[in-house]
Amino acid sequence: MSSHKRSRQTSEDETDVKVFTNHPTLYHEDGNVILSCGNTLFCVHRSVVAKHSPVLKRMLDDAPPLVLRGCQHLELQDSAEDFEVLLGVLYDGLRIDFPNITAFNYPRVSSLLRASTKYQIERARADLIACIQREWSSNLHVHDAKMQAIWSRRLAEFPTIVQNEQVMVNPNGNPGADAQPQDAPAHPAAVIRLLRDCGYHTADILFPLFYALSVETSQFGTPMLGTHVAPLQDADIERLIVGIERLRAKHSSMSQFYPQLRLPPGHDQQCWPGIQIFWAIIGPNILLSPKAARWPIEAWRLFTAHFNTPVYQKQYSFCSACATVLIGILEHRRTAMWNDLPAYFELR
Ligand SMILES: [Zn+2]
Repeated sequence: MSSHKRSRQTSEDETDVKVFTNHPTLYHEDGNVILSCGNTLFCVHRSVVAKHSPVLKRMLDDAPPLVLRGCQHLELQDSAEDFEVLLGVLYDGLRIDFPNITAFNYPRVSSLLRASTKYQIERARADLIACIQREWSSNLHVHDAKMQAIWSRRLAEFPTIVQNEQVMVNPNGNPGADAQPQDAPAHPAAVIRLLRDCGYHTADILFPLFYALSVETSQFGTPMLGTHVAPLQDADIERLIVGIERLRAKHSSMSQFYPQLRLPPGHDQQCWPGIQIFWAIIGPNILLSPKAARWPIEAWRLFTAHFNTPVYQKQYSFCSACATVLIGILEHRRTAMWNDLPAYFELR
């Protein structure tokens, strides 16, 4: 602290030493504004803060003339931990990154997004939104990879998994046993509400969260009844209901009707009967069991992969060329279903 400032300290300032704690790295001795969050003091440069946050600039311009240690003093309502991260973004170009958003770190993601929205710190907002979009991706391939990881970890009831687009025996005898509580996913309904509150309403960012919420509706009917959609606004609850209805109706009709295939000449007689028999045998289990029907995007991926498996091709007498034709059409339908999710959930 400069001698100039020290000379301007009041007797009241002497007692503040006992009450306040200077932030270890964000109390700049040559700063000219002191921001306090609870007992923590940040000494910053007005020009830096004002440049990145129009809201803080306005607050400093309009604030009552409080002086602490010779500097303008502004009291904030935020937690010191959250504000520390925001200031780190302003000062040191720190990127905010949560490699995975879990129930464990979600409260921090939420308070940071709310704070960076409140202060209009755009870079912090952009970083946090990127983390959310990575966790709930609108890209089907990214989504598939995430679900594959979850399935191989959690879904012991499925004896097979898809690897390299082929069905394999699930190597995890008891998946889920090694899942840690901190790996539990953040609740999609809470994230939807957070995004709405922070001004994010675009379909691309919301529809993967609505889908994630729709597949978890098994929680309805548990003693937790009511908490599942509690964070949602009424309009979003209705979007969820109509979306689930449309998605499952589409899934059900896709499951019952064979696609029109253009098979190589002669293969209509040679391969098509086997494909139909195999479909009729595995379809009810993979597509229509109550569990699988809740996860239509995943169920179709698993179903499709069965046709790519040489042992089944041999057993049911269809060739890999015909399988490839069928797989191409089924994958096209699955992609269309994914692309239709924003419309199903009335997000456009
Ligand atoms: Zn064939």
